[in-house]
Amino acid sequence: SRTVAERGKEDRKMLPIYAYRDELLKHIEENQILVIVGETGSGKTTQIPQYLQEAGYTKRGKIGCTQPRRVAAMSVASRVAQELGVKLGHEVGYSIRFEDCTSEKTVIKYMTDGMLLRELLIEPTLGSYSVIMVDEAHERTLSTDILFGLVKDLAKARPDLRLIISSATLEAKKFSEYFDSAMIYPIPGRRYPVEKLFQKCPEPDRLETAIRTVFQIHQTEPLGDVLVFLTGQEEIETAETKLKQRMKDLGSKSSEIIICPIYSNLPTELQAKVFEPAAKGTRKVVLATNIAETSLTIDGIRYVVDPGYCKINSYDPKTGMESLLETPISKASAEQRAGRSGRTGPGKCFRLYNVKDLEATTVPEVKRANLASVVLTLKSLGINDVYHFDFMDPPSDNSLVKALELLYALGALDAKSEITKLGERMVEFPVDPMLSKMIVGSEKYKCSVEIITIAAMLSTGSSIFYRPSKNQQYLADNARMNFYTEKAGDHIALLRVYNTWKEMDYSSQWCYENYIQSKSMRRARDIREQLAGLLKKIGVELTSNPDDLDAVKKAIVAGFFPHSAKLQKDGSYKRVREPQTVYVHPNSGLFGAPPKKWLVYHELVLTTKEYMRHVTEMKPEWLVEIAPHYFKLKDIEEAQPKKTQS
Ligand code: ADP
Ligand code: MG
Repeated sequence: SRTVAERGKEDRKMLPIYAYRDELLKHIEENQILVIVGETGSGKTTQIPQYLQEAGYTKRGKIGCTQPRRVAAMSVASRVAQELGVKLGHEVGYSIRFEDCTSEKTVIKYMTDGMLLRELLIEPTLGSYSVIMVDEAHERTLSTDILFGLVKDLAKARPDLRLIISSATLEAKKFSEYFDSAMIYPIPGRRYPVEKLFQKCPEPDRLETAIRTVFQIHQTEPLGDVLVFLTGQEEIETAETKLKQRMKDLGSKSSEIIICPIYSNLPTELQAKVFEPAAKGTRKVVLATNIAETSLTIDGIRYVVDPGYCKINSYDPKTGMESLLETPISKASAEQRAGRSGRTGPGKCFRLYNVKDLEATTVPEVKRANLASVVLTLKSLGINDVYHFDFMDPPSDNSLVKALELLYALGALDAKSEITKLGERMVEFPVDPMLSKMIVGSEKYKCSVEIITIAAMLSTGSSIFYRPSKNQQYLADNARMNFYTEKAGDHIALLRVYNTWKEMDYSSQWCYENYIQSKSMRRARDIREQLAGLLKKIGVELTSNPDDLDAVKKAIVAGFFPHSAKLQKDGSYKRVREPQTVYVHPNSGLFGAPPKKWLVYHELVLTTKEYMRHVTEMKPEWLVEIAPHYFKLKDIEEAQPKKTQS
């Protein structure tokens, strides 16, 4: 019988890219920069780093391969480790924010593009690497775009470094032009015809239509797995519940459908399930975010259900408003999604929208994102003139100005727009500038212990509180309100949750009884430890100030003062210094409670309205005390009701 590694070797030879292995290696040898374009699933991500290792590149340094998404980095690393028959984290590893699964031995390293940016801060020449592969370049994330400019420059200083820019779509020419006419190497993939079926009149309830389509496929189409594209964890969880309910109604047939969710924050141990082939006679239904568009290849898909939406980051430089928006996908995305059904045989794609209504391509993130974080990174790398940075697509001057203004207000840049000591300390933390300012700023208020707990609880990427079914909602809400004893707000409640959990010896039973997600809590503990380590690194002592809630709130305001809002007569809030109206999020513990006059919020989410998620009460005089450049007394007074003159 053959070993797993032997079988892995044979599988590898079956991939389309295998036929081009030697030629590809020759071109990499002869070209410092190579642009590679190939159909999703042809083997770019998993095979190229292995070919390079076999050809001896790892003798000179590591092979780094970037991915825009965390799950993709983890999943391909684990696949490649499996193919090589090594333990994940040894020769093959991955690095994502707050999680480093590499060791001294690691020679093939998958990482998020954001993590490579951070590595550049520590090792500006990337001297420990022999090859950098910027993968999934077509996604054009903010970090990838910044990496483009940095590695392009680095290639000039390091003739021995090899750069591979790989992508799934036909933007190759643009990439090639940007990288000084780099050679384009196309990898022909296998693609079977895909029949595209359209919804004649798109219905308002996308999720319901998608679910109905899944059952229609199940009842009328031959066996073969289904891939449904949804916008995020929440929509996926709702879809899963609805599908299961509907299956129950169908009786015995329910055993024939296996539901596999996949999204960024899905716990690691559940991620592998999506790749397992469905048992004989059953049909796998994969509920995925954009991640399955090109980042992850799931074999066996014959049907794609595409409602045509995705979630994107949207930022308005005029107002500094940032929110996650559900938006229609682009034509290019629609093509990619359809293609997922035709990889191993002819496929069918059910489009629940009209393609004619779509934009041709997705706007690069650099054109629609808050740039504060990358501007600070660039400044820290010594790139002072951000206006003339070699962007593939330059952002508007307006959004650069807004980023510089914010960093100045936070104290990370000085009046000459140069990075300050505080800015350098903030850069140590792999979080957005406002959050890092809150963390570093906590030193002043002697509450760093409390603040890193809050920061960690805000950074888990998934919700802390469990959302139970309707009939248990009441119990869950009651349990949650126990943490709002001071009624100060959500940040303080998160602190209470963490501290109580700690008192309970980090018990999962306690989590269960209090409707709290123990996975999120364990992740928070992990992140917290790392934040504590980073504080030590910059020389901040961990000090606790448990009885002075005002100190904790001031530290929050020290980072988030641009997110302050004042109560209006109608119960809504108005942002200070900005004209928008915002509302307390229904998930907040302060929702429906007697309203606080002044709030500071963590972030905005736009659904039917602009909602403030995670709010805490504060005092307006802190604003002038903490950010005198940013707020004038007038801002605060104007927002206050006029005093009647005597
Ligand atoms: P590309 O980067 O060109 O889209 P990949 O290298 O990611 O292609 O995938 C090649 C093949 O490897 C896929 O068709 C799939 O069969 C397999 N594969 C990739 N990742 C995994 C995984 N995590 N588990 C199982 N199989 C995988
Ligand atoms: Mg890939």
